Amino acid sequence: MQDLYRNKSVTVIGGGLAGLSSAVFLAEKGFNVSIYEAAPKFGGRVYSFFDKINGLKIDNGQHILASWYLNTFDYLKIIGSSKLIFQEQLEVNFADKCGSKFTLKAVNLPPPLHLAGGIMGFKALGLNDKLAIIKLINSIKKGKFTISELSKYNTDKLFKISKQTYRSIEYFWKPFIIAVFNAVPGSTSAMMFTDMIKSGFIKKGNSNLVLPDGYLSDIFIDPAISFLQSKNASIKSNCGIEKINIKNNTVTSIILENKTEIKSDFYVCAVPFYSLKNMFNEQILNEHINLVFGLKPSPIVNIHLKFNEKIDKIFTNGFFGLLGTVSQWAFKVTDDQICIVVSAADKVAEMDKHEIIKIAVNDLNNCLPEMKKYNVIYSKVIKEMRATFVPDTDSLQNRPDTKTKINNLLLAGDWTNTGLPATIEGAVKSGKSSANAIMELLQ
Ligand SMILES: Cc1cc2nc3c(=O)[nH]c(=O)nc-3n(C[C@H](O)[C@H](O)[C@H](O)COP(=O)(O)OP(=O)(O)OC[C@H]3O[C@@H](n4cnc5c(N)ncnc54)[C@H](O)[C@@H]3O)c2cc1C
Repeated sequence: MQDLYRNKSVTVIGGGLAGLSSAVFLAEKGFNVSIYEAAPKFGGRVYSFFDKINGLKIDNGQHILASWYLNTFDYLKIIGSSKLIFQEQLEVNFADKCGSKFTLKAVNLPPPLHLAGGIMGFKALGLNDKLAIIKLINSIKKGKFTISELSKYNTDKLFKISKQTYRSIEYFWKPFIIAVFNAVPGSTSAMMFTDMIKSGFIKKGNSNLVLPDGYLSDIFIDPAISFLQSKNASIKSNCGIEKINIKNNTVTSIILENKTEIKSDFYVCAVPFYSLKNMFNEQILNEHINLVFGLKPSPIVNIHLKFNEKIDKIFTNGFFGLLGTVSQWAFKVTDDQICIVVSAADKVAEMDKHEIIKIAVNDLNNCLPEMKKYNVIYSKVIKEMRATFVPDTDSLQNRPDTKTKINNLLLAGDWTNTGLPATIEGAVKSGKSSANAIMELLQ
């Protein structure tokens, strides 16, 4: 089989995780792969950089994975990257704006009781809140909501009809939804939410969190580049694609920004949805890759803080969920450095950076008063204005499949129809789907 693939060339457009994983899965099967990235670096929305002024390495944003990220683990295995920390049981420490601390920890029972036990022990909630949550998870497990209801409703409607309490939403569902979907319940499709509950909560082990044990580029990007080099792939950054030429329903070539023409047997287009329209003419977009323009971007803001002393003793578990605040998470990065995350950050992303730092430090000090004695000696705000797409009910109709109506053109990206929110796993799953689709076309 590998010999059949060896004579076949594939051009991958875009070097984020979707493009890189497509290239890696294809190169591993023996395809002759070229990958073109418009930016000076690979990684797209997953990258680390060195801030020369302060001598600090920084990730663009804290990323968190889950034990159901199986395609991602596959990708990491192929590229020989293993720096991840796997929780043995789901365990999240929360601190609220009054300084109270609570732990959500799954117990050792079969699913979904492992989580039900954890919820019962979660002291941020009262009995009625806990029972409401468990009842909703059970209704989802038993398929009590119809497909027509789920595809019509956003999650706030689901919460209303399932009589979720104010505290169950504010202290449990909302932090979960914002973390997973980068959106508030009112902008999150009930269908996507219930799918996530099934794959994340109902199967044992799947709700465990997985944290990067190092910088993002060192884990997800640089080893992929080394792997591709070892397979003699052609890897070009600073090399954007300007146009995709299509004739008789087939891609005939692509044109680089420097006007060079490139030809291959197959093409995987793995750019973000908002970059597509520059590459195709309107007729092709309307006939073949329509819909995507209904997707809306959602920002994430990360605030990196370095302190005058080590703060590691406060962050023994690595991170805290912050409750009742603008900021939602605080992660330890190094012994004296943390990263505060504001997701679904439409309003915050519009603010001045100094104002954002003030809010983040204030939230941190309210939730973890023991942090007040440390001084911030460095801060950096990174606004990712198009971090993900908004996973509302409209988005269900606006995500195209991997296979297009154009014979040799495949799509990849976290916004394609993966059934997952815009995540690392969604991006890698789409990359794998594009590689599988090419192999299917050759059979
Ligand atoms: C701050 C932040 C926090 C996040 N947190 C999490 C998290 O905790 N967990 C999680 O699972 N996910 C998280 N995500 C989402 C995750 O990072 C993305 O879903 C994933 O990286 C998307 O990968 P992609 O390859 O689909 O797109 P991208 O990474 O956007 O890659 C597309 C690439 O195409 C390139 N490109 C564009 N136009 C052209 C062109 N004309 N020619 C050539 N190349 C082109 C771009 O430069 C880019 O490199 C987060 C994202 C952000 C920004």
